[in-house]
Amino acid sequence: PSPFLDVRDLRVHFPTEDGLVKSVDGVSFTLERGQTLGIVGESGSGKSVTSLALLGLHKGTRARVSGEIWLEGRELVALPEQEMRALRGRTVSMIFQDPLSALHPFFTVGAQIAEAYRVHHKVSKQEARDRAVEMLKRVGIPQPERRAKDYPHQFSGGMRQRAMIAMSLVCDPALLIADEPTTALDVTVQAQILDLIRDLQEEFGSAVVIITHDLGVVADLADDILVVYGGRRVEYGSTHDVLKQPRHPYTWGLLQSMPHLTGDVGVRLNPIPGSPPSLINLPGGCAFHPRCSYKGWALEGRCTLERPELRTVPGTGRHLAACHLTEEAKQEIHGGGPARA
Ligand code: SF4
Ligand code: MG
Repeated sequence: PSPFLDVRDLRVHFPTEDGLVKSVDGVSFTLERGQTLGIVGESGSGKSVTSLALLGLHKGTRARVSGEIWLEGRELVALPEQEMRALRGRTVSMIFQDPLSALHPFFTVGAQIAEAYRVHHKVSKQEARDRAVEMLKRVGIPQPERRAKDYPHQFSGGMRQRAMIAMSLVCDPALLIADEPTTALDVTVQAQILDLIRDLQEEFGSAVVIITHDLGVVADLADDILVVYGGRRVEYGSTHDVLKQPRHPYTWGLLQSMPHLTGDVGVRLNPIPGSPPSLINLPGGCAFHPRCSYKGWALEGRCTLERPELRTVPGTGRHLAACHLTEEAKQEIHGGGPARA
């Protein structure tokens, strides 16, 4: 049977005055119902654009999208906007980073959740309002009947994110996309929201894609991790394999700069030197080579000349990495354990 979500060689290129921005350049992954995929990379690595394409939000823009997105046997890249609109919010739903930009300031929270429900369901206003209150209760808003009548600015940041989650789940979507769902929140609230997403996923059985710059966010939550750099996949596998035996220097860097598990939250202990590449002009060879401390370990000049293919890590089923280093070199540099300082 084909996977619930099957993204094949997705490319999202956007023409600008400076040149063609290749935000997503040949990304593939699969996801089953009830499973969570973490897409991880620094900001500006094209992660968010992947989620916009999953929602069909590129339609009507100048973006050039190719490849295939199969969701429950239906292909979304070529789907007309009219049909995509019927899926958006109902089959595919999104939790945005900043609930304030997704919630309208002039309408009550309850009215907005009710409206999101009524877009896809023929129910009375009262039924939709009841459903909104029910959803607010499920995401842990105290006194939901009363709070449904509040406006977004009357909610705290964490409560707003809960309301946003309630709105994105009100139609019981099969696929939920969460783009940096906790970035704007303080640490305690972050943990609560991640727990909430996990609980709701169990309850609703949706497939979840979490997009984040922080491996710590997906370490406990995701079944699979996809690490992207410069709009391309550099490492992909089960969370267990990727965290226990990371096989790409960029992933090592992300692990070492991860604030969560160290307790020093907000402090990046060992940030990766340099900055993400221009998506218009990726470095030749391995796109990560200008920032990679290990290129000297590969065959002479290879990292700057030849783009590494994504290959299966020896001895694993479906753990993939794109790096010229030999397995022996990786073992020697990094060993088998996680890249924690
Ligand atoms: Fe570093 Fe070379 Fe591997 Fe790229 S291919 S990550 S430059 S060692
Ligand atoms: Mg983003």
